[in-house]
Amino acid sequence: MRNISSLICRTAIAEGRAKLNETIQAVIRSVKLDRGVNGEKNRAMALIVQKYGGTSVGSAERIQAVAQRIVETVQAGNALVVVVSAMGKTTDVLVKLAHELSSQPSRREMDMLLATGEQVTIALLSIAIQELGQPAISLTGAQVGIVTEAEHSRARILEIAPDRIERHLKEGKVVVVAGFQGVSATGDRDITTLGRGGSDTSAVALAAALKASACEIYTDVPGILTTDPRIVPAAQLLTEITADEMLELASLGAKVLHPRAVEIARNYGVPLVVRSSWTQEAGTRVISPVPQPRPLTGLEIARPVDAVEFVLNQAKIAMLQVPDRAGIAGQLFGTLATENIDVDLIVQSIHEGNTNDIAFTVDRQATDRAQAVAEAISPVLHDNLNPNSPQVLVAGDIAKVSIVGAGMIGRPGVAAQMFKTLADAGVNIQMISTSEIKVSCVIASADCDRAIAALCQKFEIDTAAKNEGDPQAVSAPAVRGVALDLDRARLAVLQVPDRPGMAAELFGILAVHNINVDAIVQSQRTRIVSGVAMRDIACTIDRSDAAAAKQVLEAASVQLGCGAVVVDESIAKVSIVGAGMIGKPGVAAQMFNSLAAAGINIQMISTSDIKTSCVVAESQGIEALKTIHQAFGLG
Ligand code: ASP
Ligand code: MG
Repeated sequence: MRNISSLICRTAIAEGRAKLNETIQAVIRSVKLDRGVNGEKNRAMALIVQKYGGTSVGSAERIQAVAQRIVETVQAGNALVVVVSAMGKTTDVLVKLAHELSSQPSRREMDMLLATGEQVTIALLSIAIQELGQPAISLTGAQVGIVTEAEHSRARILEIAPDRIERHLKEGKVVVVAGFQGVSATGDRDITTLGRGGSDTSAVALAAALKASACEIYTDVPGILTTDPRIVPAAQLLTEITADEMLELASLGAKVLHPRAVEIARNYGVPLVVRSSWTQEAGTRVISPVPQPRPLTGLEIARPVDAVEFVLNQAKIAMLQVPDRAGIAGQLFGTLATENIDVDLIVQSIHEGNTNDIAFTVDRQATDRAQAVAEAISPVLHDNLNPNSPQVLVAGDIAKVSIVGAGMIGRPGVAAQMFKTLADAGVNIQMISTSEIKVSCVIASADCDRAIAALCQKFEIDTAAKNEGDPQAVSAPAVRGVALDLDRARLAVLQVPDRPGMAAELFGILAVHNINVDAIVQSQRTRIVSGVAMRDIACTIDRSDAAAAKQVLEAASVQLGCGAVVVDESIAKVSIVGAGMIGKPGVAAQMFNSLAAAGINIQMISTSDIKTSCVVAESQGIEALKTIHQAFGLG
């Protein structure tokens, strides 16, 4: 065995670093067999990366329990790299201490300080493992070659040099690595940290770099649940979730797993599992599609956009002047579902006076039937305040272009870049829909080729892909989880001139001010003001950004010839997410109907392939979450 593996090793070195990672597995296997692990010879031995969070290593007893689990994993025939967080609330305590000395401590010194938390844990855990008779070694981020950008307090990982870890694994040691930290690539090679919660990211990045067969995140909850159990005690543990779903459920998922960790798992196809460190339960598997091969250099600064997608032959149906009361979206989309018409995007924009605009897209073949449904419902949709029936408009010749990529999370400029690219190509955007990892624009079919070419060039994508849905979606449930965001505000710019470039201008300004935007919705109705057609554009943003966003947009609005900027801070956003909702009529209708049954009015609707979000009054947010969770039988 030894001879074979050293031969493999020599060949591998000759062939370069890439192959070494594969052969390492063979080497590990031979070491194990030499150590005579009985009864395990038939089982494939694997390299596993385990990560233990702060609570899991919060005391000497807990560290002992973790050490025990580690030794059991090794005895089961695995090679192990372990990543740990700082003990308990150590990081918070250190932050507080620094703020007792300065209101704005230097970010370099903060990284120096916070990195010590994880260093305490690695040494203690190594001692505990060694005490159980298992060789182990602790290493800092710098010692294992986790090289990052020089951005203190929010550095992204550029590269991981696996050599030293591989050497210690070969020696039969458990390698215990400090999470959350790295060393900057340039200058004086200072200690950097990845941002709060970053040790998940360290673990998944190590698993990607070492081509580990699994990355296990041990935490103080049993895994990922269908919703927030503090609001809905009946929330259920998920046995699996796709990485895309996890990213779309940002506010739900981020509490359990750092989104950057999910992004790396998705991009490199790392099998990931989140489970409790207190039990033997299997936890939740986070599954990723087979990834496009990508280099391990520039690991976390991969392109923000990894695909340009398009859907041809769609039609847009818009209903203008729909009364603003509960139940109408449910009625419309419920009837479409009964007619088995699959609806793609749905937007409902902010209301002007007492009415909304609702627009949706369908496959072009369904245009007539969808139009008939809208026209049949229209005559009953009026009330005292709005005596006229809504007007139904049809655009039969549209296409949808989308940019997709987990790397756009937290990078406010990406959507704006898409709008700008389309504007520069002279393409007018009729409908916008955004989610965490996708921005879609509905445009005229005649513009589609030009739009795709411009987007592929801008985002350096070789060829655009026809959006045919995710193969995993076939077996996935229509709704995997429900999330509630109570920290959002709605921002609207009224009377935006309807010409290419306006969305690019407005969202470009927000991006420059580092303001993240989700759920962008454009009104369908145009109003003619001094001969110019105007539309309203609304979006949701983080409530803490609301004042700043209003201020910068107000200044710009005058220059751009737009109207008032309106902010509503008392909103809640509730979202359903599920890879299986693609191509399944009636899912959105079920959500809208359950809200209607609870008497909850929908203020804004925005959808993406695997997500439907509704903005409701803040005071009804919790009720909305409970109702929807129950409606989909998730409890
Ligand atoms: N200790 C760091 C924090 O508390 C990193 C982590 O635990 O993931 O944010
Ligand atoms: Mg954490």
